[in-house]
Amino acid sequence: MAAPDGELTVGLFGGTFDPVHQGHLDVALHVLDRCRLDRLLFIPALLPPHKRQPVASFAHRTAMIEAALAGCPDTGGRLRCSRIEAELPPPSYTVNTVQALMREGRHRYSLIIGADSLLDLPHWHRVDDLLALVDLIVVKREAIAAATVERALAALAPAFARDAGRERWLGRDGRTAIYLDDIELPVSSSAIREELARGTMPALLPPPVLAHIRRHHLYGWKESP
Ligand code: ATP
Repeated sequence: MAAPDGELTVGLFGGTFDPVHQGHLDVALHVLDRCRLDRLLFIPALLPPHKRQPVASFAHRTAMIEAALAGCPDTGGRLRCSRIEAELPPPSYTVNTVQALMREGRHRYSLIIGADSLLDLPHWHRVDDLLALVDLIVVKREAIAAATVERALAALAPAFARDAGRERWLGRDGRTAIYLDDIELPVSSSAIREELARGTMPALLPPPVLAHIRRHHLYGWKESP
C-alpha cells in the first residue's frame, strides 16, 4: 500500500458512529499502525443510505468522535474527524465522499470497513466505481467467519482477485484488499444505545464520549437519583 513520494496514504473510516465506541477506536489505532497510514479520517455519515437513520444528530456524533480522538494516545495528529459528508448532498454515498476528497488532494485512499459492512458492500451505490478508487482494508467483526470474508472478497471479482499464496487480493490499477483478523472487540453502537436506555453504564464507551452523552442526555440516558 505504498504511495509515490509526496502522496499521503489516507485511511477512510466511515460509519454512523451513533455513538463512536472503543471498537471503532481500537480498529483505527490498529490499522494506522499495521498499514503505516499517514492519516486516518473518521467520516461520520450525515444520512447513512444503508442503515436506519441515526438517533443522535450529526453535530453530536461528530463532537463525540472529536472528544474520543482527543482522549486517544498521541498519534501525531494522524487520527482526524472529517465533516465532509455534511457538505455533500444526502444520502451519504461513499463513492461521492471519496470523489470529493480526491478533489481536495490526490492521495492514496484506503477504505476501512468491518467484515459486516463487507457483506453489504455489493449493494453500495456505484460500488465498482468506488473500488476503482480505493484500497480496501477489512477488519474482523465477531461472528463473521474468515471463510465468509474470503468468499465475499472473491465475489467482488473482477474488482478483486486473490494474489496467489498471499493474504491479499489484487484489484484494478494495482488496488489491493487485505483482511486483518488480528483485532476483535465485541461491541456495537446499537448494544451501547440499548444499555444507555436501560440505565446501564456501557463498558466499552470511551470516557469522553460517556461524558458528552451524560451532559446532553443522549440515547435516553438518565442520571440515577
Ligand atoms: P450499529 O450497532 O448501530 O450498527 P456499529 O457498531 O456497527 O453500529 P458503525 O458506525 O455502523 O458502528 O460502524 C462503522 C464501521 O465500523 C463499519 O465498517 C463497521 O463494520 C465497523 N465496526 C464497528 N464496530 C466494530 C467492531 N467492534 N469491530 C470491528 N469493526 C467495527
